[in-house]
Amino acid sequence: MKNVIVLGAGLTGLTLAYQLKKAGIAATLIEARNRPGGRIHTRYNEGEAPVEMGATWLGEKHESLLALLQELDIPVFEQFLQGYTFYEPISTSPPQVFLLPDQAPNYRIAGGSSTLISKLLNEMDPEQVVLGQRIQKVEYQDGVFVLESADRRFSCNILISTIPPKLLVERLEFTPKLPPELLQKAQQTHTWMGESIKVAITYPRAFWREKNYSGSVFSNVGPISELYDHSNVEQSLFALKGFMSGALHGAAQEQRKTLVIEQLVKYFGEVAREYTTYFDCVWQHEPETFAPYHGYILPHQHNGDPIFRADYFGGNFIIAGTETASAFPGYMDGAVLSGMECAERVKVLTMN
Ligand SMILES: Cc1cc2nc3c(=O)[nH]c(=O)nc-3n(C[C@H](O)[C@H](O)[C@H](O)COP(=O)(O)OP(=O)(O)OC[C@H]3O[C@@H](n4cnc5c(N)ncnc54)[C@H](O)[C@@H]3O)c2cc1C
Repeated sequence: MKNVIVLGAGLTGLTLAYQLKKAGIAATLIEARNRPGGRIHTRYNEGEAPVEMGATWLGEKHESLLALLQELDIPVFEQFLQGYTFYEPISTSPPQVFLLPDQAPNYRIAGGSSTLISKLLNEMDPEQVVLGQRIQKVEYQDGVFVLESADRRFSCNILISTIPPKLLVERLEFTPKLPPELLQKAQQTHTWMGESIKVAITYPRAFWREKNYSGSVFSNVGPISELYDHSNVEQSLFALKGFMSGALHGAAQEQRKTLVIEQLVKYFGEVAREYTTYFDCVWQHEPETFAPYHGYILPHQHNGDPIFRADYFGGNFIIAGTETASAFPGYMDGAVLSGMECAERVKVLTMN
């Protein structure tokens, strides 16, 4: 039987391997990081709210993701938005408070987004997932791929990449080379959220709710540009979480922390200093997600482009991953859809 290797154990790779497992096909996942999940990364700290450093929200339109969550028996819950929200348009006038208008609800995954990753991982045999192996070279000859990391070699007949397209073409050396039109497009393909900085602060109590604040903030002044209540599904552990200006990627974490706490004190008062833990994640510093762009790239640029879903190396190399998805590319839903659609292609390939 033809053997299958999947590069990347993020949501696309794990969804794909899960679908293949159900069809009796055991794919091996090779992951560069020492943890699975890729851009899904919940930080867990005993006695504190789990906090998302990566993907957090989904909506009712995200049908592929919702179906997978239901199949794996993982509940979702509504983002807390009750009460007043702060809006800070300029630094020279005080922040304003307003009530958010009614809108379609956003949901979070109970237990944190990484619950989905752990449940998918539990469906695999342990030897199916190889962590800490960054593939650097791919050679294809006579129906066989040979892959090389710094210290190991792997081989397979069917190869699937779930690495963001820009990284795939810039960080891996292919022999023979990938077609020039694919290289050019992939180099200019935006990796969704790759530039962002996530910040989360856990608290012993939700002091903002006590004063009828939602915990949400929208600020042009920063350093936090958007902030939300991030308490757990049981509403027993409390946190605030949001996005910080990407300009602070070069600052030391201690400096970012000081700026964040001062900003929170401005809205909520001295009680904001009584935090339990501060977390942030600068995704630009993660070489498994981010590579610098040459020139200006629009958000979602070339996401979902059909060039990624074409056949390469006689149809034995498939490019998957959320940026390649035919719907909701960039999002968790796109990753699930890409994994599902790719599984159908692999089933056909392994039959021949
Ligand atoms: C800060 C942030 C916030 C987000 N918020 C949301 C949100 O609220 N809602 C939403 O729907 N989506 C959100 N997203 C997007 C969401 O995280 C992604 O759509 C999804 O996780 C992508 O899954 P993937 O498997 O396609 O890619 P990835 O998660 O990027 O997985 C690719 C995997 O490939 C691995 N890899 C890279 N190079 C190599 C190599 N050379 N060899 C082997 N392995 C390699 C990586 O380590 C990674 O694990 C957010 C992302 C970020 C970063």
